[in-house]
Amino acid sequence: MPTIPRLYVDNPLSEGAVLALGEEAANYLSRVLRLGIGGEARLFNGRDGEWLARIEAVGSRRIDLLLAQQTRAQPQGGGPGVTLLFAPVKKDETDLIVEKATELGAGAIWPVLTERTQTRTVRLDRFRKIALEAAEQTERLDLPEVAEVQALPRALEALGPGTALIYCDEAGDEAGDKSGAAWGGASGRAGPMLEVLQGLKGRDAAILVGPEGGFTPFERAGLRGRKDTFPVSLGPRILRAETAVVAALSLWQAVCGDWG
Ligand code: SAM
Repeated sequence: MPTIPRLYVDNPLSEGAVLALGEEAANYLSRVLRLGIGGEARLFNGRDGEWLARIEAVGSRRIDLLLAQQTRAQPQGGGPGVTLLFAPVKKDETDLIVEKATELGAGAIWPVLTERTQTRTVRLDRFRKIALEAAEQTERLDLPEVAEVQALPRALEALGPGTALIYCDEAGDEAGDKSGAAWGGASGRAGPMLEVLQGLKGRDAAILVGPEGGFTPFERAGLRGRKDTFPVSLGPRILRAETAVVAALSLWQAVCGDWG
């Protein structure tokens, strides 16, 4: 039995309300999904949970839906949240990062400019559309906040107090860790992420992933000297940025997030 399609709307949702949605929703439900009067959709707005709605009237530029019943309540607060800070890379790979970060439950997605970031302009409307479609598909009840692109130092200042910054540090010995120091700490090498996460349970977190060229030694020194910052290793191989995002968010969800 095909699943009832999900649609994000910005309208308030309550029992018995009739929503008049515009051309885009009318086109998607009636033309793409070929739903007519009596057809059903599940609506969510990030505030009022998810509602089963029935199509009452269909036009080319408008579709009316009656809210029949709430199918899922809106979760109230609860566990720690995770923000993804990432340096944009090539277009398709960056689109993938936004989509996978949404599926993996990032509460916020912040594109940041680092010294070696090559892609310095982003299409925010495009990111928000990708995040919305991924939220509909992944059965989320909210949308991640997708921020304007900003310089890394500014983004770090904007992090909430006490947020644990998990900094994916790909640099091995060749990047100046010749000291062979033990993992972790301001000057040591990055700690295995799974190990570092054990001490971060219950804390809001931000995960930082760099661009194709990685972080400069200057950036690394700044990050390692920063309070509440935890350099982590994602193993002995250099991962593409989009792979690192998926790996880091998956580990965080499994240890600190809502996969438990
Ligand atoms: N500087 C790297 C090199 O030497 O080729 C390339 C950077 S990598 C393509 C992009 C980002 O993914 C890195 O800045 C880092 O944040 C993350 N990353 C990749 N592999 C990693 C690893 N093994 N451990 C931790 N982070 C990693």
